[in-house]
Amino acid sequence: MTEESVVATAQRLQPQLVSHFMHLIQQQHLSHAYLFNGADGTGRQVVARTIAMRLFCQNITAEGLPCGQCSECRRILAGDHPDVVTVIPDGQRIKVDQVRYLKAEFTKSAVEGNQKIFIVDQVDRMTTSAANSLLKFIEEPVGKTVALLLTANKNLILPTILSRTQVVDFLRVAPQALASALADAGIAPSQRYLLATLTESVQAAQELTTDDWLKDAQAKVGQWFTACCQGDERAFVRVQSELLPLALNRDRQGVILDMLVQVWHDALRQQAGEVGDQLAFPQVAQASQQVARQLTIDQLVTIMTLTLATRSQLAGNMNFQTILEALTLQILAQVTR
Ligand SMILES: [Zn+2]
Repeated sequence: MTEESVVATAQRLQPQLVSHFMHLIQQQHLSHAYLFNGADGTGRQVVARTIAMRLFCQNITAEGLPCGQCSECRRILAGDHPDVVTVIPDGQRIKVDQVRYLKAEFTKSAVEGNQKIFIVDQVDRMTTSAANSLLKFIEEPVGKTVALLLTANKNLILPTILSRTQVVDFLRVAPQALASALADAGIAPSQRYLLATLTESVQAAQELTTDDWLKDAQAKVGQWFTACCQGDERAFVRVQSELLPLALNRDRQGVILDMLVQVWHDALRQQAGEVGDQLAFPQVAQASQQVARQLTIDQLVTIMTLTLATRSQLAGNMNFQTILEALTLQILAQVTR
């Protein structure tokens, strides 16, 4: 299996944005503050890192892209470049010491005056005081500094920050494009489309497939789905006996919920006439085809809405088992109506 580079991932996810920013840098027209607004999976981080690499790369390619090989590129990729300051929230909030670090770096850049780039991910999780110190920098940029503020939801960003940055919206990529990259990387056909909906990169997909967890989860979610489609009350029992043991940690709980969304989305894909390699769960294609015929579009949309709501229930610290059991009962009520 080959590993897709950061630049290649950025290009695949956001080809237009990447070439736009490469052009801006070449023309020396880069602004000093941007807000990258994009849901997880839209590549906001890889595009930010590509921009950082382009600013420092010693060996720009003929296409105007960073090489990814030189010592500058490699230090940025390793998170070890003194002029690329990255802050990722540690837990729920951006912490006070992270803000102190940012402030110290801002001050240093004012003194040194050399090229520097700040990348702050999940900037919506900044405390107000942290945001205010950031604002100060944005209002009075110093030297050749660039700030890339990243968020999955610009509605959570303080208006004062929104009005002082250029907002760049990252649209979601078609899973089909990632699925074909996964094919090139040797991912099994039965897992490609599912992984393309669960992850944003070949690397993340490969991390999920290093052991048998995904295969196992895909099979058990498929069985739960089939039981639901048949209105079989044993679907409820399967939550505890089959799905719970898969939920090794919070992360995996989230992946399982995403899988429940996708297995039901397959029924909608079937109604839309999509088949084969465009199904997340091809092994239960028959069940999803049947339920697509049996239920009205309204019923399917109701079920989709229920599955989509589980993510925020989990974020709200609801018990995982309770979420799944309540969902199963609601789905069974729809199917047997
Ligand atoms: Zn380079």
